[in-house]
Amino acid sequence: MSDKSVTADAGDFAVYGSSYFAASMAAHAERPALNLDLDVDVCVIGGGLAGLTTAREIARRGWSVVLLEGRRVAWNASGRNTGFVLPGYGQTPQAIIARVGLERAKILWSLALAGFGYVRDTIAETGMPGAELTEGGWLMVSKADRADDVREEARFLRTTFGADVAMWPTLKVRAHLKTPSYFQAIHFREAFHIHPLNYALGLAKSAEEAGVRIFEQTPALSIDPVGVRKRVVTPKARVRSAHVVLAGNVHLGDLLPGISRTLVPVTTYVAATAPLGEKIGEAIAFAGSVSDTNWADNHYRLAGDRLIWSGRMTVHESSPARYAKRLQRDIARVFPQLGEVEFEYAWRGTLGNAVHRMPQIGEIQPGLWIASGFGGHGLNTTAMAGNLIARAIVEDSKTWRHFEPFEMVWAGGSLGRAVAKIGYLTVATRERVTARLAQRQVRLRKQKSVVDERQAEKLWGRLQNGGDAEVAAAPVDAEAEQPAQDNTVSKLLRKMRRKKSTG
Ligand SMILES: Cc1cc2nc3c(=O)[nH]c(=O)nc-3n(C[C@H](O)[C@H](O)[C@H](O)COP(=O)(O)OP(=O)(O)OC[C@H]3O[C@@H](n4cnc5c(N)ncnc54)[C@H](O)[C@@H]3O)c2cc1C
Repeated sequence: MSDKSVTADAGDFAVYGSSYFAASMAAHAERPALNLDLDVDVCVIGGGLAGLTTAREIARRGWSVVLLEGRRVAWNASGRNTGFVLPGYGQTPQAIIARVGLERAKILWSLALAGFGYVRDTIAETGMPGAELTEGGWLMVSKADRADDVREEARFLRTTFGADVAMWPTLKVRAHLKTPSYFQAIHFREAFHIHPLNYALGLAKSAEEAGVRIFEQTPALSIDPVGVRKRVVTPKARVRSAHVVLAGNVHLGDLLPGISRTLVPVTTYVAATAPLGEKIGEAIAFAGSVSDTNWADNHYRLAGDRLIWSGRMTVHESSPARYAKRLQRDIARVFPQLGEVEFEYAWRGTLGNAVHRMPQIGEIQPGLWIASGFGGHGLNTTAMAGNLIARAIVEDSKTWRHFEPFEMVWAGGSLGRAVAKIGYLTVATRERVTARLAQRQVRLRKQKSVVDERQAEKLWGRLQNGGDAEVAAAPVDAEAEQPAQDNTVSKLLRKMRRKKSTG
């Protein structure tokens, strides 16, 4: 194992993407490839967050563990994500309740919350360098004026799951995120964000300290999962183990094609601006993370005075530079005061979505386990899955069975990708149309009040000139046209009527 200094080089960018996180990665180790046969209790395939957490937790319970990583630890989603650590799942709570019922949904929520706590505790306990845990919560912002819906959603999360959330009215949202694009928001107070790559690297180090042997550049080429001792073949050596954990996400490929086909790979794009200095304060005065969509639009946070912004999706990997242009436009749309921001880093990462948008966790056949499909909500759920599977293997815990309703179903192959793309485009379009309509309504309301002011001024002038007959006639029409709005004309007419009757 060789240690590398803090400064990232071209090799690191080639592995981890041209990301801000690669540029600011902590001192890290390169592990050798496996070149001798090994016999262990558990073989974990995949060195992302799911595999690392599982391996660490099994080793901490005293069992021997080997982790095989085809490339480098956390080279993809686990090291390239935006680092929001949130409660819950990618799927909405309402859909989860519809699928498994309220009681099980509550249990699932508390499991995801335990995963969330694990990330926080692990960073604190290990003192891992560069994890940059930042408090401030997570704002889920509405781009339409939906005060009642947002209030109801916050109430639902509080009363159903005991979630620590608050509704923010539009004024408060706009005091923190200075844009007329946003209205109300739900603030998840406990949420935080981290430097995802340094967290994964710190987790790997901690796993090794617990006894895990990690081999990089060691793809599992084939697997014989039948029998008491499973066999995993790599380019230069074999591993025999009682249990195998598949934590390969969408990169598992031909190892077990039937399983790979249960995920739709989704690539999303991220960019980090050059330091913006004080200018950032003109747009964002919020230390936490922000999503202005459930799925399709923007997710962002600060890293010092840089803005890290992610959005857009494709079902095939595309050029980050190309998508950076779109992200630039997205930022200008939300925060025009920032102008055309300059990006210093742009990268992409690929996540895996199951059809039900819930993670795949459990025992597929005796001794063969899966921890996969964490979608865009993987920081807390990979931690949860690692713990559930470790406890299942070592302590025979059955808690993972709460995920049984979320079976592994075929994701539809290229048709599934097309459906995902269409789904994204539909949601993105719907969200943009809703946002535009909301903005239009605001404009109309403003125009209307200007017209009212003008009408009022005219009427006032006529009344001053002795148009008493108009006072008697006009109120009925004016109020009938705008029954729900106490507009300026109506107010003025009422005032005149009162004046007239008293004097
Ligand atoms: C751009 C982006 C932003 C995101 N933002 C957030 C966020 O803010 N918050 C959040 O909660 N989630 C976020 N996510 C989701 C989160 O990053 C993922 O859900 C999570 O990292 C998945 O971890 P994993 O271990 O399952 O997969 P991966 O990180 O993909 O790791 C799988 C590993 O398995 C290895 N592997 C596969 N097959 C083999 C084999 N045959 N042999 C050996 N090794 C193999 C791969 O090389 C890979 O390293 C984001 C994802 C992306 C892409």
